Amino acid sequence: MTAIARASNIRFPHRHLLGIEGLSPDEITLLLDLSESYIEYHRQADKKRAVLRGRTLINLFFETSTRTRTSFELAGKRLGGSVINMSVATSAIKKGETLIDTAMTLNAMHPDVLVVRHPDSGAVKLLSEKVNCALINAGDGSHEHPTQALLDALTIRRRKGRLNGLVVAICGDILHSRVARSNIHLLTTMGTRVRVVAPPTLLPAEIERLGVEVFNDMRRGLEDCDIVMMLRLQSERMHGTFVPSTREYFHFFGLDYEKLSAAKPDAMIMHPGPMNRGVEIDSEVADDIGRSAITEQVEIGVAVRMACLDMLTRTLPLSAAELA
Ligand code: ASP
Repeated sequence: MTAIARASNIRFPHRHLLGIEGLSPDEITLLLDLSESYIEYHRQADKKRAVLRGRTLINLFFETSTRTRTSFELAGKRLGGSVINMSVATSAIKKGETLIDTAMTLNAMHPDVLVVRHPDSGAVKLLSEKVNCALINAGDGSHEHPTQALLDALTIRRRKGRLNGLVVAICGDILHSRVARSNIHLLTTMGTRVRVVAPPTLLPAEIERLGVEVFNDMRRGLEDCDIVMMLRLQSERMHGTFVPSTREYFHFFGLDYEKLSAAKPDAMIMHPGPMNRGVEIDSEVADDIGRSAITEQVEIGVAVRMACLDMLTRTLPLSAAELA
């Protein structure tokens, strides 16, 4: 019996996946273990399964995305579901009423899963209160991006064999990053030591209350760490000037071999993408196949999304199409 089949009677005790905050270590491990079995699965030539047969997944993106949207689309199709992509230009949206109207319209079409990305923190939770289907947060403002944190954790666990006791340095624009927030919640829940490394202007007030150590200097922050996770400068979320210039930012906070030499010799480099080469990361470091896990993160992302779609639809009632 395959691991996926063995796990098929296990249920996830939440209707939606809105964030990592509040998930228990067991719930996180459950999602990581199921994702692990989907990695082997989606490396096979025949990738089709019937787990989502008769199910409809709508990707509703109010913000641009390349890898996350494609990843959910592939995951849904590989599990045999029908996938519809809806991109809504941010400029056309009047917040509040329009969002609720959109939710009600989509709800009336009876999807089984809505995957939503929105520029406003909290918008996805608001939507979840209005729909009957399962909802997955694909990134809301600078709040959470749970599937990114799950794929990052699985990438780390596969390379390093564990999460507990490792030292992870998350570097760059912590202030605006939903990836940082979801990773901090997940890693601290799983017993990983988390450091955040950034200029003071790019750190949220009282970030240490999330259980992280704070550094304003790359060499000190990277000292003897196991994982270096770089973040993009989220200029689309910046109102005002947060760094003097991208050139100066790279000089002090961009990852190059010189700064990386402070980390453990086998430290792994990660980046959620899209990368700004020469701004937060040097091209050579990003493409270093011995150290960088950046393309592996993308591959693992599809498996994680398959696992989340599988898990969340297990408790949904079957639609008329499925019962026919
Ligand atoms: N793709 C990630 C996100 O949507 C990271 C980024 O955009 O910098 O948050």
